[in-house]
Amino acid sequence: MLIHRRGFIAGMAALVAVPRQAGAVAPITDPELARFIAGMPKAEYHVHLEGTLEADMKFALARRNGLKLPFADVAAMKASYDFHDLPSFLKIYYDGMKVLLKEQDFYDLAYAYLVKAASQNVIYAEMFFDPQEHLKRGVPMAAVIGGITRARRDAQAKLGIRSQLILCFVRDLSAESAMAALDAALPFKADLVGVGLDSDEKDNPPEKFRAHFAKARVNGLHVTAHCDVDQVDSLGHIRTVLLDLKADRIDHGGNIVQSPELVAIARQRSIYFTVCPTFSGTLRAGLKEPVDVVRAMLDAGLKVTISSDDPAYMGSEYLNDVLIRAVDRSNLTRDELTMIARNGFEAAWLPEADKSALIARLESYLRSAA
Ligand SMILES: [Zn+2]
Repeated sequence: MLIHRRGFIAGMAALVAVPRQAGAVAPITDPELARFIAGMPKAEYHVHLEGTLEADMKFALARRNGLKLPFADVAAMKASYDFHDLPSFLKIYYDGMKVLLKEQDFYDLAYAYLVKAASQNVIYAEMFFDPQEHLKRGVPMAAVIGGITRARRDAQAKLGIRSQLILCFVRDLSAESAMAALDAALPFKADLVGVGLDSDEKDNPPEKFRAHFAKARVNGLHVTAHCDVDQVDSLGHIRTVLLDLKADRIDHGGNIVQSPELVAIARQRSIYFTVCPTFSGTLRAGLKEPVDVVRAMLDAGLKVTISSDDPAYMGSEYLNDVLIRAVDRSNLTRDELTMIARNGFEAAWLPEADKSALIARLESYLRSAA
């Protein structure tokens, strides 16, 4: 979410205002490949739970919590997603999030995503959430993490989808606010697998959160960070995240292809990138010709995974839809697709034996689909 604000807005304008012309993406030409994607066991690492808050759920939660939304119906709300600038987007986004107040609301949000993901054969997910936004509205951390954790357990028991939770710092709020959120979350650290960094990068470089990442590591949490495409000093941010903060993964990170030195470091450290091509699929800044991020990263030998990011604000396109578009947009071969899927499981913050079990399920599928 909020992440890539400028890229997001540009992407949304294409997706929402003129969806059938978005990026001149042709309809998928190979239905068999689409079936192959749909049936393939998959993992997802870059999905913001608040970005999966669909319009119909906003209405349901508003009714339950006695709130009135400024839209007549779901269609009117979705029509409002046709925003054209940052302030209008943020108003919609934050207004929508206000319906999340109680533990059950967070349960319903997370469970709905996990149902959708499981229906697309996502068998493992590591999901972001932004607690600072909820703490600001007086929601206790226990309600946020408690609801999501209960949903994760139920989804694993009932649907067979395993998941973990990553606390994201909202980088354009203060460092003190982020530390307060981390401190409030640490009593629940058994329910977290890592911390991340999202929202607006401008004037909020990753080093602002050095102490937060250090404290998270001391408490046994993994570390990842958004480095969205074409931000001010994107390469500097990637360098800091790689070399200074020593993040375990990078979310987006496409500008790295502009630095052979950083590419070599990422390859040497086997850094996985969680790429969301719907939002941040094209590099433009300072280039004569736009560069397709997924294609360029694959060609650079980087470890790419693909995720859906904020599907409720992206035409409700979840992982299968995103992968199908990526096939066309980036001319992915079947081998590249399976490599991306394999990367997905290898990137998991799980014990090796658990990772191997997930990879075995993928390999079994690939043998049966051969
Ligand atoms: Zn994101």
